[in-house]
Amino acid sequence: MNISKIETKRLLALTKEFGSPLYVYNGNKIEAQYDLITKAFNNSPLNIKYACKALTNINILRILKNKGAGLDAVSIEEVKIGLKAGFKSDNIIYTPNSVSFKEIVEATELGVQINIDNISMLEQFGNKYGSNKACCIRINPHILAGGHSIIQTGHIDSKFGISIHQLRHVLRIVNKYDMHINGLHMHTGSDILDANVFLRGMEVLFDVANEFKDLEFIDFGSGFKVAYSPNDITTNIEELGEKVCSRFNAFCKEYGRQLTLSFEPGKFLVSESGILLVSVNLIKYTTSTVFAGVNSGQNHLIRPMLYDAHHEIINISNPNGTPRIYSVVGYICETDTFAWDRQITEIHEGDILAIMNAGAYGFMMSSNYNSRLKPAEVLIYNDQSHLIREREEIDDLLRKQVELEFLIN
Ligand SMILES: *Cc1c(COP(=O)(O)O)cnc(C)c1O
Repeated sequence: MNISKIETKRLLALTKEFGSPLYVYNGNKIEAQYDLITKAFNNSPLNIKYACKALTNINILRILKNKGAGLDAVSIEEVKIGLKAGFKSDNIIYTPNSVSFKEIVEATELGVQINIDNISMLEQFGNKYGSNKACCIRINPHILAGGHSIIQTGHIDSKFGISIHQLRHVLRIVNKYDMHINGLHMHTGSDILDANVFLRGMEVLFDVANEFKDLEFIDFGSGFKVAYSPNDITTNIEELGEKVCSRFNAFCKEYGRQLTLSFEPGKFLVSESGILLVSVNLIKYTTSTVFAGVNSGQNHLIRPMLYDAHHEIINISNPNGTPRIYSVVGYICETDTFAWDRQITEIHEGDILAIMNAGAYGFMMSSNYNSRLKPAEVLIYNDQSHLIREREEIDDLLRKQVELEFLIN
């Protein structure tokens, strides 16, 4: 998680050109991550669908589309952005939760693969389309895994998916409406460390799969972990790939047809590609700590406050300085901390800090809280840098507001 000398210079130059705070993404890093997965799982027919809720800048989508990826969308808006980016509709899977049937119909009419996550929608889908449109079913295998409780999705109390214990009910509906179930899906949560968790989930899904005769793919969601701090353990993707493909192919033999193996990584593809560059406004000594106050906050990167997420912070203005202990805080009028008691090379007011691993769920979760403007986004690709989103302006904050004439005097 070091930044090379050349990269440091380039990043500093970008803040001069585009200002700060600034999100910077490395497109070639995204491609390299995509290649890692496709290489690791190359023993089975593979479909990698980018879970675009991590980062939907249309240029990022196009980089992945050009690599051959599909798309995992969780809202009709993501479906539409994906289509605009050029993804073929049948290479988009729509995995919504708690949406209206109307939205599912809209997505179906757009031609995307529907992934149904509850009995009520399954019944309505069957009733409307019968065997005319295929759909996938999201199963909750009740496996507890994955990082912080907010991103655990496979456990017994989770709102996601149809419980394996409701399989009889599912089959009754499928048979009654003569539905074409072409895929099964699970997503047990983010940050799964362990290949064995994957394999356990797979066994559950294989049991379910034997009940459906027309499957074309099985989608095992995501959960590929990336390193956020230097000592973090990450998913050993080669080992996972080998084990998963060999078990998957064996299952397909039993099943009687070679199915496509699908995954939907978000974080794994884009997290490490992104850096949030912020500028230090203030060094403040208190009785207990030294604060470095920056020109950004939880409005631009909420993961530390929301998930207790660790993001490495590097002082790119003084990379070789003496390490000292800082608490890096934002400018939002709430507790707004990027890092507590962090060793960072000596910081001076005006320095630029690089907050690492900010590609996934960074810009996407940003807001205008405190009426702050959202940062610009820059893409570095094949050694060129390109502005891919303009910095917001005050007019952007007011654009959708309706001014009542009678209140103006
Ligand atoms: C969020 C999500 C993913 C991606 O999770 P990551 O941890 O970013 O890889 C994949 N599939 C579904 C259905 C999701 O909701």
